[in-house]
Amino acid sequence: MLRNSFPLLIKPASFSCNLQCKHCFYSLKTHGNGSQKQLHMSGKTLHRLIKMYLALPLERHVFIWQGGEPTLMGLQFFTHAVQYQKQYATKAHTIENCLQTNGTLITKDFSKFLARNHFLVGVSIDGPKHLHDFYRTYPTDKGSYQKVMDNLGLMQKDGVNVNALTLLTANNVQHAADIFHHLTTKHILHHQYIPCVEFQPDGSPAPWAVDPLEWGKALCSLFDLWLEARGRVSVRYFDALLYTLMSGRPGICHMDNRCGQYAVVEYDGSIYPCDFFVSPQWKLGNIHETSWQEIWQHPLYTAFGQGKKTNSEKCSSCQWVGLCAGDCQKHRIGAYSTAHSQHSWLCNGYRLFFEYAVPILRRLAGPTRLPEAALPEVPEGNVNAG
Ligand code: SF4
Ligand code: SF4
Repeated sequence: MLRNSFPLLIKPASFSCNLQCKHCFYSLKTHGNGSQKQLHMSGKTLHRLIKMYLALPLERHVFIWQGGEPTLMGLQFFTHAVQYQKQYATKAHTIENCLQTNGTLITKDFSKFLARNHFLVGVSIDGPKHLHDFYRTYPTDKGSYQKVMDNLGLMQKDGVNVNALTLLTANNVQHAADIFHHLTTKHILHHQYIPCVEFQPDGSPAPWAVDPLEWGKALCSLFDLWLEARGRVSVRYFDALLYTLMSGRPGICHMDNRCGQYAVVEYDGSIYPCDFFVSPQWKLGNIHETSWQEIWQHPLYTAFGQGKKTNSEKCSSCQWVGLCAGDCQKHRIGAYSTAHSQHSWLCNGYRLFFEYAVPILRRLAGPTRLPEAALPEVPEGNVNAG
């Protein structure tokens, strides 16, 4: 089976991070082996990973470096990664590097390296200082906002291609418009807003989880701002919806009726189907002993992909299923007990938003038809880099 693109989300420092954000997705979890110690990818694993991945005949090879905090690996690790990419790439290769970071460890040299090597850098920013620092703190409880902004300025000065990833939580969701303005004031013109949906072990939502209707209202107000600033400011989800309406193909993985379009590589080379499902029950293999072909054909990978399709009864008869596809499996209540779980926690918010925005988006998209309830073939490369 050949693919146009099969992005890899690589976690070289696994779940390790220098911050201790109170709302962190990983804070409710442990490493697959139950350990909380710092785990780093070895040079041997990095080398094998890059050699093996670049041997795949893809149109684009997309490396998404993510964490925990990937910059904990230090500049030398990424310098080696780029050296290996150059060693194993031919003229026919198109290589993209994306780095998702909390931004606090970017030094002057790191910034220059990112600019020189054309990394696309996503920085986690939850809004102005009082909103960002509410959850995004060092272990000492000190807020990280100022450091992030200083380093953002450094990268912008060096010409690094920077975008913002904003987690909308119980604390900041009502301030979505302020966040949008704050980011644009800081000359960040590519935004990604991610809903914070976390369930506690007893199945109840975490205190920082976003309220579904507040999520819907935030989408509506962000949508208005995006409309006004269209062509100047990009909001990934709205761009993806427009793409879907124009092409009939899902623009982001949670809008697809099937998961399994990318893979996660952990620090030790272990492979999983999605960043939200890195747990022993979803382990597909290890790059030191498993081929990509074996991964793609793994029954667990197929089962995970198909789990997305298992919509609730409500979704099956929903007019928005062609755009929503029952939402991300992670957002479904009971997500971690099984991937074949129930209804999206965010449903009421999505319905509110779709009623408001889809007529406008349809007009923008022109006279094309919505995709059928059974969505068409998936475009490659849909990754939720949240
Ligand atoms: S992020 Fe959600 S929609 Fe995307 S692959 Fe993972 S479970 Fe599926
Ligand atoms: S809006 Fe709600 S009912 Fe409709 S597809 Fe999405 S999650 Fe399902």
